[in-house]
Amino acid sequence: MNIVVLVKQVPDTYSERKLNSDGILDREASDAVLDEINERAVEAALQLKEANDGSEVTVLTMGPDRATDAIRKALSMGADKAVHLSDEALAGTDYIGTAKALAKALGKVEGGYDVIFAGNEASDGRGGAIPAMVAELLGIPALTHAQEVSIEGGTVNVTRATDDGITKLTAQLPAVISVNEKINEPRYPSFKGIMAAKKKPVTTLSIADAGIDASEVGLASALSTVTSAAPKPPKSAGEKIEDEGDGGTKIAQFLAAQKLI
Ligand SMILES: Cc1cc2nc3c(=O)[nH]c(=O)nc-3n(C[C@H](O)[C@H](O)[C@H](O)COP(=O)(O)OP(=O)(O)OC[C@H]3O[C@@H](n4cnc5c(N)ncnc54)[C@H](O)[C@@H]3O)c2cc1C
Repeated sequence: MNIVVLVKQVPDTYSERKLNSDGILDREASDAVLDEINERAVEAALQLKEANDGSEVTVLTMGPDRATDAIRKALSMGADKAVHLSDEALAGTDYIGTAKALAKALGKVEGGYDVIFAGNEASDGRGGAIPAMVAELLGIPALTHAQEVSIEGGTVNVTRATDDGITKLTAQLPAVISVNEKINEPRYPSFKGIMAAKKKPVTTLSIADAGIDASEVGLASALSTVTSAAPKPPKSAGEKIEDEGDGGTKIAQFLAAQKLI
């Protein structure tokens, strides 16, 4: 079984994140890490590989040169190989352009794909759209927000968990599966895994290599535009209640005034 994981390098949520003068995230201003949700997607892929002899896990990322660090992390967890789509022309690409570029790059993965894992939502863009868009472009099913996944033969069963409830989904492979944060606990890379990752193959693709039309990516082609951006206002001081025997009543009155109770 050929398993591909879409992974994204994101600014570390523990470092300060800044917007640049165009209102777009300044990725150079923060430390960059493999998105935690993608660690879970890699873990799901590795568990599937371990249950299916002869399977191979490929990680695919679209991002600048330094996204190789995210690739190495996934390889050190146990993925077998990687494809890195990297080209100056991709800077400023919006959601639709990103999905089109990833769909093209997926067509270049050696061995093809039976299962494509992704995170349900990146911690920076938080669009939660790429997995479904990629599936649509490839003409294959999208099973999103997966909390449990089982694959037997050519059939995938997913327990989908959202605020609206639990849904059971079934589809035929190939399919895109986006995972939520409850699906598993990702493994830590072992020392052996870190050393082995240095020797695993990473194929770098330009947009020309992937067959991506330059007019469909980049800021000039973006269908969405950031019209304005402003820093988040500082938190207000809040209200302190002194308990003089009537603390409970005062809290209840406060919550009632906020229409919370
Ligand atoms: C006008 C505009 C300009 C932009 N310019 C830039 C820019 O210069 N640089 C930049 O990095 N972003 C830029 N973005 C943001 C970029 O379009 C989004 O980050 C991207 O489309 C993914 O959306 P998301 O982060 O919301 O992913 P989601 O849809 O929330 O991601 C879900 C999952 O999809 C997969 N995925 C998402 N993105 C990638 C990826 N790149 N590679 C592999 N897998 C992926 C991962 O598995 C992820 O967990 C711009 C956006 C706009 C609107």
